[in-house]
Amino acid sequence: MIDVLGMTKKYGRFKANDNITLSVGSGELAVLLGPNGAGKSTLIKSVCGLLRFDGSVTIGGYENHTTEAKRLLGYVPEFPVLYPMLTVAEHLEFIAKAYRLSTWEENAEKLLQRFELDDKKMKLGKELSKGMQQKVSVCCALLPQPKAIILDEPLIGLDPHGIRELKAVISELRESGCALLVSTHMIESMEENWDVTYIMVKGRIERVCRRADLDANQSLEDVYFAITEGNSQEGKS
Ligand code: ADP
Ligand code: MG
Repeated sequence: MIDVLGMTKKYGRFKANDNITLSVGSGELAVLLGPNGAGKSTLIKSVCGLLRFDGSVTIGGYENHTTEAKRLLGYVPEFPVLYPMLTVAEHLEFIAKAYRLSTWEENAEKLLQRFELDDKKMKLGKELSKGMQQKVSVCCALLPQPKAIILDEPLIGLDPHGIRELKAVISELRESGCALLVSTHMIESMEENWDVTYIMVKGRIERVCRRADLDANQSLEDVYFAITEGNSQEGKS
């Protein structure tokens, strides 16, 4: 559903993404791990059509900048970007109009309740805390019921209720056949559901790890540190 082939992104002469190839199938949760500055957000922004790059990115077979691709894709950015003078309810209405959704009110109501925003509907974007803005951003991304969704460090700044709900939403989306690409530093947060993990270091994918690739006594965290610091038990008996 999300297919990246030989994608390179340079800022000036600096290669922030170097020949990245990855794919996320329907019903698959792909986790993107890597230290700060590895290039995860750059990769995500490129896939979402916000940056120019060399190579190919398709969503459901459509080039990522096409309307068809954008219709299929939801995006929760690392830093929420809300309209300061629109209310929470108006943000959802704006998305519904932009995507020409016909029946959306009930779904919007459910999302707001789920993320404890139903009593914040009339609050302006600028009046919300960072965590609330993050939750509105999640609701806006989910409202069009995308077939693929990309979340950039989505748990940062959320309260425990928000973290629990978002993890549950991610799990439900996966079950319902959505393709998910999630970057996170909270390795254990995706432990239950992940299908494939891409470990990025210095702009490159250094390791693609499927759940079946792990030994019984090996955790994703072990693999991560083996790749990024070379100090885990990986390969030892
Ligand atoms: P991550 O999300 O993994 O922390 P980023 O994709 O944000 O990493 O950044 C990757 C590298 O690209 C970093 O070295 C960062 O400084 C650089 N970078 C990110 N955005 C820009 C930009 N707009 N202009 C120049 N360099 C950038
Ligand atoms: Mg980032």
